[in-house]
Amino acid sequence: MNNSTENPFFRYANHTIDQNDIQAVVNVLKSDFLTQGKLLTDFEGLVCDYIGARYAIATNSATSALHLACLALEVGKGDLVWTSPISFVASANCALYCGANIDFVDINYNTALISVDLLSKKLERAKKNNTLPKLIIVVHLAGSSCDMHDIYKLSIEYGFKVIEDASHAIGGSYKNQKVGTCKYSDITIFSFHPVKIITTGEGGMAVTNNADLAKKIRNLRGHGIVRNGFELEPPGPWYYEMQSLGYNYRITEIQCALGISQLKKIDSFVKLRNELIDNYIKLFSEIENISIVKAPKNVYSSYHLAIIHIHDIDVEQHKNLFKFIRSENIFVQLHYWPIHLNPYYRKLGFKQGQFPFSEKYATSSFSIPLYPTLTNKDQDYIVTVIKYCLSKIL
Ligand SMILES: *Cc1c(COP(=O)(O)O)cnc(C)c1O
Repeated sequence: MNNSTENPFFRYANHTIDQNDIQAVVNVLKSDFLTQGKLLTDFEGLVCDYIGARYAIATNSATSALHLACLALEVGKGDLVWTSPISFVASANCALYCGANIDFVDINYNTALISVDLLSKKLERAKKNNTLPKLIIVVHLAGSSCDMHDIYKLSIEYGFKVIEDASHAIGGSYKNQKVGTCKYSDITIFSFHPVKIITTGEGGMAVTNNADLAKKIRNLRGHGIVRNGFELEPPGPWYYEMQSLGYNYRITEIQCALGISQLKKIDSFVKLRNELIDNYIKLFSEIENISIVKAPKNVYSSYHLAIIHIHDIDVEQHKNLFKFIRSENIFVQLHYWPIHLNPYYRKLGFKQGQFPFSEKYATSSFSIPLYPTLTNKDQDYIVTVIKYCLSKIL
């Protein structure tokens, strides 16, 4: 618009840290334990209480939690895992870490979530070809839960396991129950990366109601080492025993302190995000070519992202609009370029044209700024700039 140096700069996401968060971290730094202390179990317990799930295992990232969740479900060589192409690469990479093969199920364009209809058809075909998946990782994109009830029904019919990649969705609900209750899944994963709903700097968590899965994940988080329940006669009092090949996926006390402090604010963060989305919906109702992607019915979204669909534009116009908005210091971002179109996945045999709804989504959508400290005035400005940029590219 005008080239005044006073143009504000907006990112698509921002963490929200207050003095209590800072003090919580400082307190840990002055304490005796920087890792593997009481705050870890406190943080895990508080998330369990908040969600209404039985077990929680905090890790150094959601990627680590996804990896351990796959291992706990005994995903390995020769197994097939399905996920959505519209996700962060970690949703698919975790299966590859375990030596499994990956395939994708296309999305419903309107919700950008896995299409249960297409899933059901793909399962029918897979059953005939004897290529049923062992596990499906569903992704609650932007904080909106997938249709877990119908996915659960399919999991019973076809005998696959379900992980919910709820990296975006802590604080959201499905059919009036918090995402993470695992009523319709085996394990749910959360991310605490700074762009997500609440943050620990880096961090993640697996939640489950299954004691055996929880035990496996907890064990693999710490090198596969146990301190009781030995297989061998202890050779001495120093003894601990490595029973499986685990990892160091531990989270620090510093991070857990931040997580505990952030968790206190989660409902207010999610409420603010919903209010901001309502305001965006109102503001975009005056722009014919743009609409905000809304949560499906039965879903209270945590709205990690404000995604816009731009109607009736071609691939070039989408690119130009994106560039133009960024040049106005509004740092929009695409969530996500389809996983199967990355070079690594193309080398595995995936091709352009395989998941047309995902590809259409990726060339007609992107995320605009959304975070709790965004104001209605900021939103007015952002929408005005987008409207101006749109008028220039059409
Ligand atoms: C952020 C994210 C991850 C990975 O989270 P990290 O904590 O950064 O490892 C996985 N899946 C989705 C959908 C994400 O958005």
